[in-house]
Amino acid sequence: MHELAITESILKIALESAEQHGAKRVRAIRLAIGPFSGVVPECVQTYLDVLAKGTAAEGAKIEARQLPLRVRCRDCGKEGEVSRTRIECPFCGGLRLERLSGKECTVENLEVE
Ligand SMILES: [Zn+2]
Repeated sequence: MHELAITESILKIALESAEQHGAKRVRAIRLAIGPFSGVVPECVQTYLDVLAKGTAAEGAKIEARQLPLRVRCRDCGKEGEVSRTRIECPFCGGLRLERLSGKECTVENLEVE
């Protein structure tokens, strides 16, 4: 259900944006996805294939880019990016991190014609 609702909003954004630019077809939809968004691009693609039938985005491909996780260190106060496999402050190695991002799922851009 998670991806279905997300795909509906992605499709809406894509179609509105395509219309604004006078595009006839949407070929690809590029997403920026945070590591904790829980969004699986393959699932979005599956739903899009169904939802986009008969619209300008029919047959559009989902291309997803993983965003880094931004954190603030409670020990040294700096902000940085960490990977999912190495969650520690990149400056002091501290582990008391505050998560600043990671749940995003946004349409970064579209490929249209
Ligand atoms: Zn630190």
